[in-house]
Amino acid sequence: MTTRWQHDVPPPVRPVRGRRRPGLWISLASALALVVVLATVLVVLARPWEGLLRGGIGIDPNRPRYDISARVEPANGRVRGTVTVRVPAGVGGDTLRFRVVPNAEGYDSRFRLGQVTVDGDRVEPTLTNTLLTVPRSGRGTVVVSIGFAYSVVEGKTSPLAALGLMPSDGPMVAGLLARYDTGMSMGHWYPFLVADGAAADPTLPDTGDVGNAPVSDVRARITVLQGYAVISGGEANGTKDEGGNTVVDERATGIRELSLVVSDELKPVTREASGVTVRVWAPADSASEADEVATVTARALGVFDERFGAYAWPALDVVQAPMPPGVGGMEWQGMFWVGSEIFHASMPGLPKELGGVLGQLGGMRDVREFTVVHELAHQWWQGMIGVDQTTDEVVDEPLAQYSSCVYFAETRPSDWKEVCDKNTSLNYRAMRTMGGEDAAADRPTSRFTDDKQYAGVVYGKAPNYYRALEELMGRDAVLAGLRTLVEERSMDVVQPADVVAALQSKAPAGKKAEVERLWRHWMHETHGDDDVGTEIMP
Ligand SMILES: [Zn+2]
Repeated sequence: MTTRWQHDVPPPVRPVRGRRRPGLWISLASALALVVVLATVLVVLARPWEGLLRGGIGIDPNRPRYDISARVEPANGRVRGTVTVRVPAGVGGDTLRFRVVPNAEGYDSRFRLGQVTVDGDRVEPTLTNTLLTVPRSGRGTVVVSIGFAYSVVEGKTSPLAALGLMPSDGPMVAGLLARYDTGMSMGHWYPFLVADGAAADPTLPDTGDVGNAPVSDVRARITVLQGYAVISGGEANGTKDEGGNTVVDERATGIRELSLVVSDELKPVTREASGVTVRVWAPADSASEADEVATVTARALGVFDERFGAYAWPALDVVQAPMPPGVGGMEWQGMFWVGSEIFHASMPGLPKELGGVLGQLGGMRDVREFTVVHELAHQWWQGMIGVDQTTDEVVDEPLAQYSSCVYFAETRPSDWKEVCDKNTSLNYRAMRTMGGEDAAADRPTSRFTDDKQYAGVVYGKAPNYYRALEELMGRDAVLAGLRTLVEERSMDVVQPADVVAALQSKAPAGKKAEVERLWRHWMHETHGDDDVGTEIMP
């Protein structure tokens, strides 16, 4: 057999000098033509998603794919649309769970659920407060379509509300989905799938955020009045003006939710950094602040890219957005928001001029830098490394805080400890001074007494776990452990034990148990007073 097969193979072709071999040239030309045709087909097929691939992220048929079509009217807050989700086999159970934040209790959105279909057949879903459950037809891939309409309320920006002297409706309803004079903030604005295994209480917790969506690919066609910009965590694939409207075609791959800001006032300042297009959006009269925020973002991208692994998306939109009382910024994927007062390094709750002067005295520029870097760090902790924010906020918030400290340690070695302490531990001491109690950081957000305790324990005390780890095994080993987590679990949803295991993997053999013991000490037990202190002025 060997002999026969060897004879079937034509002898190797060698170029013969001075003599053309027409047959060979023709076949080479045909092969080239075929390659060109194939490449063209591939380019045409891939075209709608071009430019969206970085860090190995592309469209993945194994994750949910959203197709959203919506009309958004910032002037009166009306939103009307349809979200169609292709849910692949293996994602979701017999019943699909969607979070519908606009229907939150106490949020005066007049939410109306439209027709819901599964594979084209009308079904009877159940909508309880913010939880929509849709029966699934079979275990295979299904296509769910959900119609919705609601009105976005006006956000509170009055000084009294900002100072916490007026009751707020909680960050979820008052700020993340609200309209302001600079435009409309649209976080959690369409029904989104809850990740398998994640909690889905119909009632939103009063504290913290509710992001716990699985990674998905999104296409959205957003119709706005001409003159409005649609800013998102994705990329505009094209815009079309028709009859006084603009239809923006947004695409994003590997994100958990596509949040939007729709505005006719914000203008971008653009910067290229670490291969990422950074766009900072602010009113035209805030261009110099936007420039400063862009510089900080670019610098921090460099630090985190090197320490934690490459940022996953081709662009990053940083948006100046009004925020509810006590909230400095908000993370999405491919985008984050910075509260207006923080953005201007101004003292919250005061008129711009006075707030600006006091802000300078109060070191608000450092607070802004820390906040911007914290929100950027969420692109790794909550974006690439997913977390159920209702149960495991102990993972992403302390990591975002610690990452910001690392950024300061690397870019401002002279006083990084002071800046880090002011933006972390001081939260705990302030909470204690105001009479709040220490508590375990590792618990569902609904179990904190109030925002004050949540901020003190999760943002104030808990980040110190990583500082304690630095003392145990050195900063390089801590950062190497976190990088391992990104390398092994990017685009996944992790739990506290996964973080501890990744850190242990880079700890010296004799110290692995201590990594876990310290987690219990800082995240489960209550040694805050001894470890962090109780006095604002120590
Ligand atoms: Zn955060």
